[in-house]
Amino acid sequence: MRKNIISLILTGSLLLSGCSLVTLETNPKPTAAEETQITEETTTVKETEASVTETTTAAVETTVTEETKTSETEPVETVPEVTSVPVTPKTTGKVVILATGGTIAGVGDAGKSAGYRPGTLTAEDLISAVPQLAEVAQIEAIQVCNVNSDDITAEVWIELANKINELARDPDVRGFVITHGTDTMEETAYFLNLTVKTDKPVVITGSMRPSTSISADGPMNLYESVCVAASNDAIGKGVLVVFSDLIYTARSVTKTSTYDVMAISARENGACGVVRDGEVFIYEGTTKRHTSKSEFDVSSLKTLPKVSVIYFSVDMDPEILKYAAEHSDGLVIAGAGAGEFSEGYIEVIKKLKIPVVISSRIGDGIIIPDNLLVEGTIAADNLPPQKAAVLLRLALTETTDAAKIQDMFFEY
Ligand code: ASP
Repeated sequence: MRKNIISLILTGSLLLSGCSLVTLETNPKPTAAEETQITEETTTVKETEASVTETTTAAVETTVTEETKTSETEPVETVPEVTSVPVTPKTTGKVVILATGGTIAGVGDAGKSAGYRPGTLTAEDLISAVPQLAEVAQIEAIQVCNVNSDDITAEVWIELANKINELARDPDVRGFVITHGTDTMEETAYFLNLTVKTDKPVVITGSMRPSTSISADGPMNLYESVCVAASNDAIGKGVLVVFSDLIYTARSVTKTSTYDVMAISARENGACGVVRDGEVFIYEGTTKRHTSKSEFDVSSLKTLPKVSVIYFSVDMDPEILKYAAEHSDGLVIAGAGAGEFSEGYIEVIKKLKIPVVISSRIGDGIIIPDNLLVEGTIAADNLPPQKAAVLLRLALTETTDAAKIQDMFFEY
């Protein structure tokens, strides 16, 4: 007899409009034998839902065939009924999982790592694939959206920040995990780092391989993220990203590969901690202002000012800057080297009437005011262009004064 070790109770849109809330209840702790059966069962359900491909069908058939063979050739053993033992989570309080889509919720051809549909599995699917979550904390999950992270918008960011700020007031909530596509994970992480008003852990994770690939990395990343979100050591550290056993601060984290399971890193800044068999080790932290010490308040905003990021490359037509400026409230230039560009760019940028932040297309290193080629522009410090755009959008909710914005780039 197969037993479910988790039961997912749909309790409807209790807390937040437009979102479905799922509670993961802990109950019978399985024996190892049961766990094997449960895994098979879960896999079967998932694979059926994900429209089973040839390889998957073969795997399911193998299981069935073996079971049939056994019953034909050997006497059936009576397995004693196991009494249910409820799992007691290691920690008190809830970890709330906010699911937004991405590859972690991706479904494709069985075994394959590319060519899948991101944002397909639901929050419920994600947590039911990792029964061990129930050992860490009580789990609630909210489906915020289910998209490829390239379709995340300022509206989704604001919704996420407001939800976290609202739920963080509940003393039963001990932390948050956001599941997210890896493409823009760093931007969402940095935005939340600047706009959530809580010291409770807020962790973002995702995966590089879809749920249907061989050795999918999503379940382990989700498990380790819940461990970090439930950990007292993560309190007050700002928004963290957990990926492939490592912990990163939101300000430093970035995506550095298109395919590697270690695609999330922090380049020269490195990781700030490690998760090992569910234990959390945090060694470093950011010195920059974040979360409850941040001045940015998005609670009454519907969207954010528009900022365009313009790359520089050899011989690029500076006219593109004029077009971008006409359609934006601020610009970020991804310059060459320490934020440099051509004479043509310099001439156009000098005449722009909106704040212009200078960053580098390189990925590592800092830009300071001494590096600036055009007076009145703003140095991005060591923020990459995409994160400079996040900070500029927030800065523009308060001021258009370049000197004040420059101060913010050193503070945050
Ligand atoms: N395109 C996907 C996304 O960002 C990639 C991923 O999640 O790894 O949603």
